[in-house]
Amino acid sequence: MSRRVLVTAALPYANGPIHVGHMLEAIQTDVYVRARQLAGEDVVFMWADDTHGTPVQARALREGRPPEDIIAEAYEEHVSVYRDFGIGFDIFHSTHSPENEHHAGEIFRAMEANGYVSARDVEQFYCPHDKMFLPDRFVRGVCPKCGAPDQYGDSCEKCGSTYASTELGEPACALCGTTPIRRSTEHLFVSLAPFEEFLRQWIHEDGGRLQPTVRNYVLGWIENGLREWDISRDAPYFGIEIPGHPGKYFYVWFDAPVGYISATDKWARDGGHDFAAYWQSTPDDTEIVHVIGKDIVYFHCLFWPAMLKASGYTVPSRVQVHGWVMVNGEKMSKSRGTFITARTYLEHAPAAYMRYYYASKLNSGQDDLDLSFEDFVNKVNAELVNKAANLASRCIKFIGTRLEGRLGELPADAAEFAQQIRARLRDAPTHYQAFESSKAVRGAVEVAEIANLYVTEQAPWKLAKTDPERARCAVSGCGPVRWSRRYSSRCCPSGPNGSSGCSSSLSH
Ligand SMILES: [Zn+2]
Ligand SMILES: [Zn+2]
Repeated sequence: MSRRVLVTAALPYANGPIHVGHMLEAIQTDVYVRARQLAGEDVVFMWADDTHGTPVQARALREGRPPEDIIAEAYEEHVSVYRDFGIGFDIFHSTHSPENEHHAGEIFRAMEANGYVSARDVEQFYCPHDKMFLPDRFVRGVCPKCGAPDQYGDSCEKCGSTYASTELGEPACALCGTTPIRRSTEHLFVSLAPFEEFLRQWIHEDGGRLQPTVRNYVLGWIENGLREWDISRDAPYFGIEIPGHPGKYFYVWFDAPVGYISATDKWARDGGHDFAAYWQSTPDDTEIVHVIGKDIVYFHCLFWPAMLKASGYTVPSRVQVHGWVMVNGEKMSKSRGTFITARTYLEHAPAAYMRYYYASKLNSGQDDLDLSFEDFVNKVNAELVNKAANLASRCIKFIGTRLEGRLGELPADAAEFAQQIRARLRDAPTHYQAFESSKAVRGAVEVAEIANLYVTEQAPWKLAKTDPERARCAVSGCGPVRWSRRYSSRCCPSGPNGSSGCSSSLSH
């Protein structure tokens, strides 16, 4: 029996719509999950919205409504878009949930009990008018590096540098404009240094756990010394209150990845599945695979494995990192009109085209993927429409109208043709499992090319007049004939004796 597999995509943030960049990760994860399921493996896909933190809180204040409203609205949009793109997750949950509160609390308590948490005072901006400590995004001022006015307290949109909010020139509260004062407050810190040995071992184990370039980044961070991680924020903060520390809340990055666990918990409770078999297991029995973008490697490859290790949850077997989506060669940008929401895309083209396009371009590396519309149109027309769909359409129509809708067996003299196709089918699962969907899709296009050639050579439209049985057999090889029992078992439930419905009828 193969290992149980749990796959996650990164949690989209509940402060805006899903765009074509999010769809890359959703489609990459979905393709990976489906391929392994089709290969007969026990695979589940756990997912949620990431809801807490300052951006949602700031927007709620700006719009004068509760943050719960904003995240509920985002949840509806996110789920409906992902469903319309055919993303096959087992659950889409939320980090604003009792399950998440429970598991974030458990992880924290375990870390605190083992001496990994300490408290000390930090100096922060405080707005005397709003009577609150100001998170980075609540302070605006002059960039300390380039002098650009009206920048956020964590990074400059003009020059891209990052800094502490207390370094800003002419700081002002983003809510009321008052000049904030510096005030001391106690924060909680998690110490990562005790996890150094574990992390070194974790990143090197098991060959395929991290891509080599990702492993090098992480190793670099470890070599530079593992710093303490500030995990608390003061009230008012939209998040989860830290057990035993009234008025202190988990920094959003502490409870966000816990969403993977809490989604599994909710799914297990609702569906009668075994939660412990996934998250209170070992990598020998349960393979946990995270698919993420290259901006969140730090959180997923340092903090997250340390949190899991410290609290006895299953540590991930693999973190798969992908690059960005560019649109027509440029970074997505609202001002240039290249920021395209997934819903807008669906108003213009079918989900299947984007699924095909991304799957045909994605590999296991972190290179950016260019959504070039010229290439998109050419690829969809040349490969998906003219090769694959055209082949199926001409064969199925021919069998339906000229050959009474019955399929035949592949002719004995088609051995070479069959061999060429089987070779490509044989390689597909390995490519998918290695996140090399472009190679698997290339194989599928070649299958369509080989089969189109075969049909043309056999000329069944001529054969149908003289030898209809031979015509039936020739066309069956290019239509829905059962090439492999394993790969047809999901689309067509098995009939008696394991025969697939595909080979005996066209009703599918
Ligand atoms: Zn700047
Ligand atoms: Zn203020």
